[in-house]
Amino acid sequence: MPPPLRPGLTALRGYHSPQLDVDVRLNTNESPLPPPQAFVDDLVDALRRLPLHRYPDREATELRAALGARHGVGPDAVFAANGSNEVLQTLLLAFGGHTRRALVFTPTYTMHAQIAQMTETGVVTEPRDDAFGVDAAAVDAAVARHAPDIVFFCSPNNPTGALEDRGAVAAALARPDTLVVVDEAYGEFSGTSVVDLVAAHDNLVVTRTLSKAWSVPALRLGYLVAQPSLVALLGAAHLPYHLNAVSQVAGVLALRHDAELAERVAWLCDERERVVAFLTDFDGVTVWPSSANFVLFRPDVVDASAVWTSLVDAGVLVRDFSARPDTPGCLRVTIGTAAENDRFCAALRVACADPVG
Ligand SMILES: *Cc1c(COP(=O)(O)O)cnc(C)c1O
Repeated sequence: MPPPLRPGLTALRGYHSPQLDVDVRLNTNESPLPPPQAFVDDLVDALRRLPLHRYPDREATELRAALGARHGVGPDAVFAANGSNEVLQTLLLAFGGHTRRALVFTPTYTMHAQIAQMTETGVVTEPRDDAFGVDAAAVDAAVARHAPDIVFFCSPNNPTGALEDRGAVAAALARPDTLVVVDEAYGEFSGTSVVDLVAAHDNLVVTRTLSKAWSVPALRLGYLVAQPSLVALLGAAHLPYHLNAVSQVAGVLALRHDAELAERVAWLCDERERVVAFLTDFDGVTVWPSSANFVLFRPDVVDASAVWTSLVDAGVLVRDFSARPDTPGCLRVTIGTAAENDRFCAALRVACADPVG
C-alpha cells in the first residue's frame, strides 16, 4: 500500500467535465473548427526535420520571441508552458505555498483555487455582484481584509463571459507586495487586454493560451506576459526541458496563421451575438452578455439539470453549472458552427418546454 494521499489533496476531486460522445459538443469552449490545414502541413514538414535525439531548447527562445512579438515585448517578458494551467501552476509553485494566500472572486475559473490548493496555497474567496462583476471599491475592501499574496482575475471571466473592470485590476495592482494574475484565456474574443499595464507594474502577470481562439488545445500551449524580472524567477519552479520540441515548433508555426485566426474570431463573435439574441428573445431563459466564445444562461425552470439532460438526449452537450452555489440554475454553451448553434437553439426550445421529456 502506498501512503495515503497528501492531506492537502484529499478534498480535491480533480477537473471533471464529462467527455460524452454526442454530435454537438458545446461544453469545453473549444473551437468548433480544426486549425488551418496550411498550419498542419507546415507542422508535418517541420516534424520531419526535428532533431528528436536532442533535448529541446530549454529556454524555448524562438517560441517566446514569437509570442512576445504579438504583444510588443521581448522573449524575456514571456514564459511558456504546457497550457496556461501549467503556467498557473508554475506561478503558484513560485509565489504560493503554505505560508501564502490567494484571493479569487467567485464565480470564476475553478482551476485558480484548485491549483492553489494543489500547491498548499491558502484560498480566500469573495463573491462577485449580481452582474458577476467586481469593482475597485470591492477589490480594495477584499485585499484590505485578506492581505492576499496573489489575486486572480479572469477577463473575460469563465463561466460568465464578463470582462473584468480595469479599475478593479488597478486597485489590486496598487498593493505592490501582491501578485496580480489576469487570466485572458479568452482575450482574443474580447479584443481587450491588460497587457499594456505590464510595463508599469512589476507585480502583474497576464496569462494567455493557444487552446481557445487558436484552435489547438491538443498541443497544450499557454504563456504569460510579465516583466523580465518576474519571468526570471519562474526558472526555479518548473522542470528542465518542460516544453517539448514538438510543442515549441508547433507554437511558432501556429502564430504565423494569425490572419485566419482573426477571421475565425470575428465569425465566432458574430455567431455568439446571434445565440445571445436568440436567448434574449426566448421567453424562459435569463442570459448574460459575453465577451468570450461561450454564453451563460439560466432556464427559468425548477430543474436546470433536467434541461441539460434533455439537451444531451437531443445530442447537444453543454456545461451544467446549475448545482454550483455561485451560478445556481445556470448552464453554459460554447459557440459552435452555425449548424451546431442552430441545433442547440432548437433543442433548447424543446428542452425548456418539456425538461424531463
Ligand atoms: C480553458 C481555460 C484555460 C486553459 O487552459 P489551457 O488549455 O491549460 O491553456 C485557462 N483559463 C481559463 C479561464 C480557461 O477557461
